[in-house]
Amino acid sequence: MFAPARPVLLGHEDRASHEKDTMSQDATLDPTLSSWVASANAADTDFPIQNLPFGRFQRDGALRIGVAIGDQILDLQAAGLIDHQDMRRVLSLSTADRRALRASLSAGLAEGSAQQAVWEAALVAQSEVRMALPCDIGDYTDFYVGVHHATAVGKLFRPDNPLLPNYKWVPIGYHGRASTVNVSGHSFKRPMGQLKAPDADAPHLGPTQRLDLELELGIIMGRGNAQGEAIGIDAAEDHIFGFTLFNDWSARDVQAWEYQPLGPFLAKNFASTMSPWMVTLDALAPFRKAFAHPADDPQPLPYLSSEANSQQGAIDIALEVYLQTAQMRADGVAPERIGQSNFADAAYWTAAQLVTHHTVNGCAMNPGDLLGSGTLSGTTREQAGSLLEMTLGGKEAITLGNGESRTFLRDGDTIILKGYCQREGFRRIGLGECAATVIG
Ligand code: MN
Repeated sequence: MFAPARPVLLGHEDRASHEKDTMSQDATLDPTLSSWVASANAADTDFPIQNLPFGRFQRDGALRIGVAIGDQILDLQAAGLIDHQDMRRVLSLSTADRRALRASLSAGLAEGSAQQAVWEAALVAQSEVRMALPCDIGDYTDFYVGVHHATAVGKLFRPDNPLLPNYKWVPIGYHGRASTVNVSGHSFKRPMGQLKAPDADAPHLGPTQRLDLELELGIIMGRGNAQGEAIGIDAAEDHIFGFTLFNDWSARDVQAWEYQPLGPFLAKNFASTMSPWMVTLDALAPFRKAFAHPADDPQPLPYLSSEANSQQGAIDIALEVYLQTAQMRADGVAPERIGQSNFADAAYWTAAQLVTHHTVNGCAMNPGDLLGSGTLSGTTREQAGSLLEMTLGGKEAITLGNGESRTFLRDGDTIILKGYCQREGFRRIGLGECAATVIG
């Protein structure tokens, strides 16, 4: 049997306690730290000085690299922190260099910093610029780690056998397309596709009637690996740059007709939406949690298992789905929350396991590759991350506060994903927004 080599670093227990020490000693996470950028000190900001997520914005027709701080962006080159505008180089930083950059950012943006006089000129208001995708996305893989989603969807298609037998052994995924991943704020046309009603003799071509959202997280790869070299579970997080919100729009009627035998195809690749800010694992460190499969379930094969992954592989990220219909927008009604869940509760596999599994066969990953988590639903309909689950396959419409109802999305509907982390003793951080509108 093939057993991939595992890097021998520290002993497992040493490594886990070492990482805990690193976290508690990380001055950038100190909850009492405040910034001379006043908006970063607001209690409800997604971007306090403890977050410092990376993104790209457009200025004078060019893309520039920045870090979100309150309602502002610090232009990293203008601040003298980098001498280029190549996000791939930032993604490729070693973990130590990425942390050193974070420490410089934190010190320079902190209240009382001598950098303030210089860096004030490197700030730009988020409201003044258009954001771009946070990096050029190379390859895109969508996983299926949401076990409650997989079970609920499986039930709709196979009531007796909702979860296929491989699910609890293999992180299931498929290769998607990077070409139709868009940054938050775009609109996209309702896609055409082959549709076939169950009682119809033949399919026809038409606009999808079952357009859905998928509440996901995007994992952005940092340093890559050479083809043929697997990334061991204990090294996997050194290859992850950060997390975004991610909406994997899906045409359920197209999907139902095309998905066998090779899986999703045109039902998924007409549009995806990503939030503009990559929140690093450094910022997420306080929100790590123990990870385990239920005791009655198969335990991960050795290559997908490590003490560090068990002790802190999960991440407590609260997730929300909001809907604003065209009518609500016309009436000045705020988006309404229709679902909420949590990454740690929803995910059957950790980010490290996804990276390790993806490369166990020698597959090469590159900086800027995107791993979608899969739909992150909880166990109830209120915790669903897709309309497919909220409406039991389109059978029971959800009713909105203004009396409108939905089974699937209508033209003019805007879906907004949000995410945040909070824990006693640490500053709340957010992932920003991931919004897009379907048009006819
Ligand atoms: Mn998906």
